[in-house]
Amino acid sequence: MAAFDVERVLLVEHWTDTLFSFRTTRNPTLRFENGQFAMIGLQVDGRPLLRAYSFASANYDDYLEFYSIKVPNGPLTSRLQHIKVGDEVIVGHKPTGTLIQSNLTPGKRLIMLATGTGFAPFASILQDPAIYEAYDSILMVHGCRTVPELAYGQRLVRSLPENEYFGSEVRGKLTYYPTATREPFVHQGRITDLIETGKLFDDIGQGPLDPETDRVMLCGSPQMLADLRVMLDNRGFTEGSGASPANYVIERAFVER
Ligand SMILES: Cc1cc2nc3c(=O)[nH]c(=O)nc-3n(C[C@H](O)[C@H](O)[C@H](O)COP(=O)(O)OP(=O)(O)OC[C@H]3O[C@@H](n4cnc5c(N)ncnc54)[C@H](O)[C@@H]3O)c2cc1C
Repeated sequence: MAAFDVERVLLVEHWTDTLFSFRTTRNPTLRFENGQFAMIGLQVDGRPLLRAYSFASANYDDYLEFYSIKVPNGPLTSRLQHIKVGDEVIVGHKPTGTLIQSNLTPGKRLIMLATGTGFAPFASILQDPAIYEAYDSILMVHGCRTVPELAYGQRLVRSLPENEYFGSEVRGKLTYYPTATREPFVHQGRITDLIETGKLFDDIGQGPLDPETDRVMLCGSPQMLADLRVMLDNRGFTEGSGASPANYVIERAFVER
C-alpha cells in the first residue's frame, strides 16, 4: 500500500508574496488530531518530494487545508506555490505531533503562541469545540513581521464567533492578540518582549503567566521556541509529552537546513 494519498486541489489563496493557503480533497480514512502535522508534497520526476505540514483545517472537515510559506528556491515550495485547482498533492498517512490536548494536564487558561506559519496548527485547534469545553479562557497570540502576514489568521479568527456549534463559547472565551514586529499596528513587538515586559497581559487585562492555571502551546521559528522555552522554564513550567503530560508543548514551524 502507498504511504500517501493523492488528493486534488480545491482552492488556492495567495495572502502575500511569501504566504499562501490551499485546500485539497481528503481521504475519509485519514484520521488526525487537531494540532498534528503530516508529510505532504508533490510528485517530482516520478518521485515524492515531501515536507512536514501542519493541518490547518479541523479533523471533522471533509477537506484538508494547509497554510504555507513560499521559500525562494525551496525544493518543495518553489513548486507548490504554483499549484492550481485540480492539481495533485500527496498527503502522508501518518499524522503525528506534540501540539495536542492530551499532552497537557488540565488547566484553566490555554495560551497559544505562534510566529509566521506557526499559526497553522492553531487554525486547526481554534476550530476544535473541545478546547472551549476544556478551558475557562483561551488566548491566541500571533506574531509576524508585517501586517499583511497576519491576514490568514485574522480571517479565521473573525469567522469563529459565527460558528453555529461553538460560536457562543468563542465569544465568551477567546482573546486574539495579533502583533507585528516591523510595522505600525494595534499591537507591536516580539512575543517574548511582550511577555517579559508584561505588556501582553496588561493590554488584555489578564494576569501574568502562571504554571498552576496556564497551559501553553508554542509553534514558531527555532529562535522563538528557544527563547520561550527558557522563559517558561524560568517561570516553573514543565514541557509535556505523550508519555508525560505537563503544562506546555512545543512544535517547530520549520527547521533550519
Ligand atoms: C513539524 C513541522 C511542521 C511544519 N508545518 C509547516 C506548515 O504548516 N507550513 C509551512 O509553510 N511550513 C511548515 N513546515 C516547514 C516545511 O516542512 C518546509 O520546510 C517548507 O514547506 C519549505 O519547504 P522547501 O522544500 O521549499 O524548503 P526547505 O528546504 O524545507 O526550507 C528551506 C529554508 O526555508 C526556511 N523555511 C522553511 N519553512 C519555513 C516556514 N514555514 N517559515 C519560515 N521559514 C521557513 C528555513 O530557513 C529552511 O532552512 C513545517 C516543518 C516542521 C518540522
